[in-house]
Amino acid sequence: ASGNAGKLREFGALLADLGLHTQPQPEGLEVDETGDTFAANARLKAQAVALATGQWALADDSGLSVEALGGIPGVHSARYADSDAARIARLLQELTEARALSPSARSARFTAALALANPSGEIVLEVEGHCPGQILEVPRGDGGFGYDPVFFVPEAGLPFAEMPRTLKAELGHRGRAFARLKPQLQLLLQG
Ligand code: IMP
Repeated sequence: ASGNAGKLREFGALLADLGLHTQPQPEGLEVDETGDTFAANARLKAQAVALATGQWALADDSGLSVEALGGIPGVHSARYADSDAARIARLLQELTEARALSPSARSARFTAALALANPSGEIVLEVEGHCPGQILEVPRGDGGFGYDPVFFVPEAGLPFAEMPRTLKAELGHRGRAFARLKPQLQLLLQG
């Protein structure tokens, strides 16, 4: 339940390992993300896409919560500005205005909430994954998508945008959420 190329690429790889074939949600299908939480929005997207297509639908609602900004942009991460570059510029500007200059003052975390709906639109699985990090002052790297060039993961000593895909899949919020989903999905596939 996504049209986001970055998410589709990451999920395509994770689901292919289970022998599952993915396709993007139908073009033109817009789901209003009216929930207050990542989990609520993931449920809304999975349900809407399953009902519209009659297929199983896996939704990811994700975003970045920055401590010095009171959790912003959070569930509004996609709507924070019109392009990835503009979203990053706004984030760096707001951190400068908040005088959050040291790495520890720039603590943040990514969240990914996943919801799987069956073809009748019932939510059958839900999980959440997190990745702690810090917002860099200057973007680094050209891999990934979204806020990846400014999200530094101390555990790896690298921003997401400089990580090999396999490392982001291991340490990232989406990969961690998927690691929780995977055994439940395997049981479902066996049943
Ligand atoms: P939504 O889940 O479609 O509402 O939007 C999530 C937004 O959060 C994306 O458009 C990105 O801007 C950002 N985001 C989510 N996951 C990642 C990630 O893995 N790297 C960088 N940005 C991300």
